[in-house]
Amino acid sequence: MLLVPIGGVEGLVVGAVLEFVGSYYTPLGIPVAVSDALSEDPFSEAYNPLRHQYLGRRFLPHLSEVGRKKRARAVLGITDLDLYEEGLNFIFGLAHPGLGAAVISTFRLRPEFYGEAPNEGLFIERVIKEAMHELGHVFGLGHCPDRRCVMHFSNSVVDTDIKEPVYCSACLRRLKENLEVGL
Ligand SMILES: [Zn+2]
Ligand SMILES: [Zn+2]
Repeated sequence: MLLVPIGGVEGLVVGAVLEFVGSYYTPLGIPVAVSDALSEDPFSEAYNPLRHQYLGRRFLPHLSEVGRKKRARAVLGITDLDLYEEGLNFIFGLAHPGLGAAVISTFRLRPEFYGEAPNEGLFIERVIKEAMHELGHVFGLGHCPDRRCVMHFSNSVVDTDIKEPVYCSACLRRLKENLEVGL
């Protein structure tokens, strides 16, 4: 699995995701590495000047291509650009199992974004949860009704903060089955 920093996303953040996701997925047979940072240039066509946001799905084919070249089973882009999808005000991230690719945005995960005091630990925890969530989708998991499970849908950081950073036992069982059949 390849983690791909996009643009100016902080090395510290990417390092924390690598450590957590790596220690979780490596025992499942999926080693995790970080690639060189990608320039934001290829994603400028995803920019919507009316919304001052980027259309998330446009990131996935390019990320998938980067992953394919490195023979990675899955690729996760990490950007600090603000992402959206049609019909939604914003998205924390999205995934496409068929492309083996996902992207997460850190834009709305800092407490400062909501007028709260900076808290680097909380920020990093949220980034890790969004990473684990989108990677679960890449490997075929859907949303989980368990509010503590990382596969529960987050409408806001309040939902994200309730979740644990890991899959519940039912989701983990399904994940292992999916990994075995090579999804
Ligand atoms: Zn989801
Ligand atoms: Zn679950």
